[in-house]
Amino acid sequence: MNINSNTVVSITYELHTTTPEGQQVFVEKANEEQPLVFLYGVGMMLPKFEEHLAGLKAGDEYSFELSPADGYGELDATAHVDLPIDMFKEAGELPNVGDVIPLQDNQGNQFRAGVTGVHEEHISVDLNHPMAGKNLIFAGKILSVREATADELSHGHAHGADGHSGH
Ligand SMILES: [Zn+2]
Repeated sequence: MNINSNTVVSITYELHTTTPEGQQVFVEKANEEQPLVFLYGVGMMLPKFEEHLAGLKAGDEYSFELSPADGYGELDATAHVDLPIDMFKEAGELPNVGDVIPLQDNQGNQFRAGVTGVHEEHISVDLNHPMAGKNLIFAGKILSVREATADELSHGHAHGADGHSGH
């Protein structure tokens, strides 16, 4: 079976980014013992990532590079905000520069922001995705491709490599 919409795909992958000097930096990986399993075509993965896997089958290997625009977007130099320090004092602990902290917007969406400054009255955070502005180099192997079950399609996610999950 070939990777297409409504298939559940199990893959290994390795993700590297490149520095401005062209050096590869390891980010994360999934191996054969703990593969990445996902329902293809429902927006769980980057659209361009899925595009590169379309039509592949078990045993095929892949490797490709995505530009920042096709990955997590270009760095937005204006995506910085200052948060009142009282927000953090109430929680009892101030973050440090370099920490990644969970935040919530007015709509209740949760996201993560990197702390860039700790000041007397405010904490400065960078709202860019940690992978923004980076080329993404993916490589790996297709382990299995199967048809999604009706449950998986109605839930909008994969239920593991074998399709069984207790919900
Ligand atoms: Zn489910």
